[in-house]
Amino acid sequence: MRNCLLLVTVTSLVLAGCASSASTSSTSDAGPGAALDAGSLPSGDAGTSAATDAGVRANERTLDTCTTNIDANAPEFYKRYFKCVTVTTTATGVSISSNGLPPHRSYYYGSGNANFEDFDTTRGPQYRANPNRIATKTIAFGVPNTPVSRNLTVSSSLVDGTVGTSTNEYPMGPAGMALDGVALFNPLAAPGDNIENEKYTFDVYDGHPPQDGSYHYHTTSKGPLEVLKKAGLIITTTPGSASIELYGIMCDGTPVLGCKELDESSPSGSLDAQGGHAHDLNDKEGTTLLAGRYHTHLCPTSATGRKFTPEIQYYSSCTR
Ligand SMILES: [Zn+2]
Ligand SMILES: [Zn+2]
Repeated sequence: MRNCLLLVTVTSLVLAGCASSASTSSTSDAGPGAALDAGSLPSGDAGTSAATDAGVRANERTLDTCTTNIDANAPEFYKRYFKCVTVTTTATGVSISSNGLPPHRSYYYGSGNANFEDFDTTRGPQYRANPNRIATKTIAFGVPNTPVSRNLTVSSSLVDGTVGTSTNEYPMGPAGMALDGVALFNPLAAPGDNIENEKYTFDVYDGHPPQDGSYHYHTTSKGPLEVLKKAGLIITTTPGSASIELYGIMCDGTPVLGCKELDESSPSGSLDAQGGHAHDLNDKEGTTLLAGRYHTHLCPTSATGRKFTPEIQYYSSCTR
């Protein structure tokens, strides 16, 4: 599986790969998640932070209607911060899975879908939608509880933005899980493409689907932050402005944070070439959720934080 192929030249937009076929999936217009989510009822916090905008539509997929099943024996990190996923425990960690459908609105759900919204062109003339549509895609990883370091020095020569230049790159396709059950992809575009061009196809949640419909994020998104708000942990869901910024976890056990740590402090010390460092991830009460854990910070507004998901897999295994 590859990232979406979108070529943009200086003088004209040349759509290739994901543009080569307007692959409207039959599932994308059929009430996504309806079958999987049948019977799920809003949880106890329903209504506390429900849609702040125009209200929830019939059959709309939201944080209240998606299905969340997290094993009571799973680490607190998953129980506290994730929704719209299934987490089971394994001998060495957890298995985390979802149907990949964003629990928020997107242009890429397609006109007529309850979650459809117009593509936001007010962001600038560079922004143009790709022709793909969101499809149900099972995303599943095993994430170790005690990941083993590859002892890499994550330098700028390793983090080169080019696919296939290191055996330590995250795999293409789903390489992590966001807090809202959406796939995290690495920041590498297929050869000849550039994520800095592909980003102009992002919807207002900064996600997009490639031709096969597997919607994903490569960068910050208010989608995962809406999960934290739903849990009562933050107020503001604008990336860069929230009091806690956690976006998800990569398949090897590397969490992806933003401009804030889990305890609401700002990252301190030096960050490596992909915005990473290792320390205990504590909440503001001082509870350690993940001890000594390498993680990266997406914080494009800071000098050292990074704009995109990590490229280099710091820990040994990515099981999917
Ligand atoms: Zn992409
Ligand atoms: Zn940190």
